[in-house]
Amino acid sequence: MKIGIPRAFLYYKYHYLWETFFEELGIEYIVSPYTNREIYKQGSIWAIDEACLSSKIYLGHVDYLIDKCDYVLVPRVFGYGTDGTVCTKFQAIYDVVKNTFRDRNIKILFYNINPKETANEFRAFLKIGKFLGKKKAAITRAYVIAKQSQKMHQEMDLKYQEQLLEKDGLKILLVGHQYNVYDRYIGSPIIQYLKELGATPIIADICDKKEAREASKQISETLPWAFNKELVGALAIYKDQVDGIILMSSFPCGPDSLVNEIIIRRVKGLPMLNLILDGQDGSAGLETRLESFIDIIKLKKEDEYERKN
Ligand code: SF4
Repeated sequence: MKIGIPRAFLYYKYHYLWETFFEELGIEYIVSPYTNREIYKQGSIWAIDEACLSSKIYLGHVDYLIDKCDYVLVPRVFGYGTDGTVCTKFQAIYDVVKNTFRDRNIKILFYNINPKETANEFRAFLKIGKFLGKKKAAITRAYVIAKQSQKMHQEMDLKYQEQLLEKDGLKILLVGHQYNVYDRYIGSPIIQYLKELGATPIIADICDKKEAREASKQISETLPWAFNKELVGALAIYKDQVDGIILMSSFPCGPDSLVNEIIIRRVKGLPMLNLILDGQDGSAGLETRLESFIDIIKLKKEDEYERKN
């Protein structure tokens, strides 16, 4: 029995949890490779034109995995209760995958998180474990260890980011969903180029999520989406420690288009760049925009320094 895990969407949020869970249960798994042009192309073929870039990439990863494993892990998340709901893509992706790949007889291992039906995370993992033929005690143990692993890695990331924030030099806050920011095809080139330009990227996704959801109220009290709330809250927490903000979204993202508009209108006093990624070839345009953005910030800082001295 081999489980295929698409390296897209919630993988970036939960990979320590998922991987540790399967390892502890002795279940073999395979993770699809980093997104590349081929995966993006395949996903674009399977997806409807109106789908966002991130969901096209997701389908590309599923396409890669189908013939290489017994079951593909495709979670379905409806929301996190009082912490907020999620974009409809996360509610629909199970059905989208099932229908898109029906002719290839895809077999899906799925978990369902739906606070309205009291389907919480632990129950969801219990179901998966039972489906995989494991006993309740072993599943519970694996889940607890997996949660600890995820928490430990999140704390390590946060500590590292705090050290980056202490450093001198230009710091740019990258505000985007983790599946975009960390994706090798769309997000990593931006991080890399910022570093080449001498800036330190600070990732909004690396934050204390509970604190961020609370802090999001400083910018908007009515955001429905949990993940956007966390990003907006991180922005409220980090904004005084950075020199500029990059809003990074995939085209055409509904939640981000609304949330970014709110951010642009309500967060003042910091240079802001709104990047909408569409997966098209060629990085020259993107590099030019990043370069100009960093130049403007450097000039602004020089002016401020001269005024003070
Ligand atoms: S939040 Fe935006 S990028 Fe993410 S899945 Fe929904 S539409 Fe796509």
